[in-house]
Amino acid sequence: MKSESINIGNFNVRYYAVNTLIIGSGAASLNSAVTLDSIGQKDIMIATTKWGAGTSNNAGSDKQTYYKLSLCGSEPDSVRAMAQDLFNGRCMHGDIALCEAQGSVQAFMKLVDLGVPFPQDKFGSWAGYRTDNDPRARATSAGPYTSKMMFTALSEELKKRSIKVLDNHHVVELLTDKAKTKVIGALAVDTSIVNPHNAFVLFNSVNIILGTGGPGDIYENSVYPLSQTGSTGMAFRAGATGQNLTETQFGIASLKFRWNLSGSYQQVIPRYVSTDRRGNDEKEFLNEHFPDYISLTKAIFMKGYQWPFDSAKVSGLGSSMIDLLVWREISEKGRRVFIDYRKNVSWDRKDKFRPEELDPEVRHYLVSSDAMQLIPIERLISMNSPAVELYRQHNIDLASEPLEIGVCAQHCNGGLKSNIWWESDIGHLFPVGEVNGSHGVYRPGGSALNSGQVGSRRAAVFINRRYNLPVPSRSEFLSVAADHLILVTDQADSWLSSGEKSIKKDVLADIRKRMSGAGSIVRDRNKVASAAAEAFSLYREIKEKIGASTTIELAGCFKITDACLTHLIWLEAIKSYIENNGRSRGSFIITNHKIPETSEFSSPFKDIDLCRYDREVEKNIQEVSFRKGKIKISGVKVREIPVQDLWFEKVWKDYLEDNYLES
Ligand SMILES: Cc1cc2nc3c(=O)[nH]c(=O)nc-3n(C[C@H](O)[C@H](O)[C@H](O)COP(=O)(O)OP(=O)(O)OC[C@H]3O[C@@H](n4cnc5c(N)ncnc54)[C@H](O)[C@@H]3O)c2cc1C
Repeated sequence: MKSESINIGNFNVRYYAVNTLIIGSGAASLNSAVTLDSIGQKDIMIATTKWGAGTSNNAGSDKQTYYKLSLCGSEPDSVRAMAQDLFNGRCMHGDIALCEAQGSVQAFMKLVDLGVPFPQDKFGSWAGYRTDNDPRARATSAGPYTSKMMFTALSEELKKRSIKVLDNHHVVELLTDKAKTKVIGALAVDTSIVNPHNAFVLFNSVNIILGTGGPGDIYENSVYPLSQTGSTGMAFRAGATGQNLTETQFGIASLKFRWNLSGSYQQVIPRYVSTDRRGNDEKEFLNEHFPDYISLTKAIFMKGYQWPFDSAKVSGLGSSMIDLLVWREISEKGRRVFIDYRKNVSWDRKDKFRPEELDPEVRHYLVSSDAMQLIPIERLISMNSPAVELYRQHNIDLASEPLEIGVCAQHCNGGLKSNIWWESDIGHLFPVGEVNGSHGVYRPGGSALNSGQVGSRRAAVFINRRYNLPVPSRSEFLSVAADHLILVTDQADSWLSSGEKSIKKDVLADIRKRMSGAGSIVRDRNKVASAAAEAFSLYREIKEKIGASTTIELAGCFKITDACLTHLIWLEAIKSYIENNGRSRGSFIITNHKIPETSEFSSPFKDIDLCRYDREVEKNIQEVSFRKGKIKISGVKVREIPVQDLWFEKVWKDYLEDNYLES
């Protein structure tokens, strides 16, 4: 696995040949590397933008959830029941749901063995709790930093196994055969090299595992960590198809320090206020939309359990009314919104805590949690003091200042499509983790982490059994890749000769504004159409608008081009769904007009037309591809959960004959 040096155009390029290149160092990538190594495929390496960057190692929440089959108590559970619950989230293929359910125990136990501290009792029972969209108590958690602990445990294992990691390597292009049927390698920029003409790194590889995470870079209001950019555009350029890109999840999060305000942050019933841009004209803007103290406090409390915005939980004074009202203050009225833990919700001009007027379920929870103190910060300290400490560690004292919030993008259920071995429709390319859009409209909380672990293992197993092939010779590889490489290096040359342009920052800010404006929880038909048109014209011009003088700026040019294509494709997907008469669902509502100003108690959002899955556009999985500069969108029927023949002798025979690896 030694590197060599070759010349391409004006660039001196470092060259590697390797069976499997793993891109990214999130929990999914690391698991596929560790699995490959443990099952015998040693010819692997990881290329990652920055060790420690990405969502797994930098995001969390009040109680970050991992979803798996129930493993304790007397409540019955089964692989099929779990698959059914994943499938019930709509627009998820049944065979993938079955794999995620079946693989969950193995994936979970591996993390336990690696040292992730999931709690168990003295009998070894893995106690669980119910999370959103979970009819059984399948969820578990190792605390606010579950995914970080997964990252740490997997990285320690990676080090023990001496798996090669190329840090500071931002992969900028996936290389394919001429017909775009399979990947053959990739090109990266090593941002630690000062001279950009020496910074390209070329990989000739049989397989690529793509673990680049979700599109964190394309939203202005985002709770993705700043270090998570995402690189889905690169896979689209290589010809891979995406699915369910309309299904991003949004929810209330703090802005200065990006963190989900779920669980106890809401259950202690803090006060919500808005101000003008300068911090004046403070107003408890929620109050006028609720008829009484009991319904307002209940909606805030329920936001703790029901964190992501859900269009189906707005009516009837539901908890998602809170997200919509926050969104409206910020996006339509141009105000700032804060959660204030120092004071109670006020009612009748008094901000006294009124336990006797709380909904019985809310009161019971607070009493059981020893959280009946007089003000929200005291209740939060009593119920979950690490939640307060966490903000203190980021220089925010919840006891002395209000917390500015927004409705932020957190995760996309959609992404690239794959088969049951996580191989995309471009052969030998395996999207794992969040970049793989295996889920549909709803998913149980915690199933993203399960999917990342199950999928990355399945990809590794398939590669080892089917694609453990010799790497083509350098000349063979270059004879296929040369034209593509020249195009990319010519583009880099042109950026370097024009030098850094200050406009780059504005371009990225534009992309983010456009996505948060048109592609967030409220999607206005006309606004989406014009945003998609703007995105398209930006995409046509972007290469001329930007330039670079240094290696880091060069990598930045590739990143911004990627973000531009990603946001264009996401917006086109949303536009197509609306134009084909898809209705509000999951984490968005569709409007044709400004949301009316009203002080009616019921809801200013009472005319939400909810998806009933009785139209083709709603029943089918939306697929999006980008080929020859054109975006193609179509609908495919959801595959049912397969009926299995589990007769042991039959399974055994297929296994011994290696037939079980079919897709
Ligand atoms: C605030 C928050 C809370 C969450 N809570 C939960 C939860 O409770 N339960 C749950 O299941 N999920 C949760 N999620 C989602 C879950 O954490 C992520 O989906 C998951 O961690 C993604 O892991 P990953 O390995 O796919 O990608 P990431 O961990 O994001 O890693 C991506 C990696 O790819 C690298 N990379 C990107 N582009 C390139 C490139 N071009 N070249 C080289 N490297 C590249 C990055 O640097 C990074 O190392 C949450 C997400 C957020 C933001």
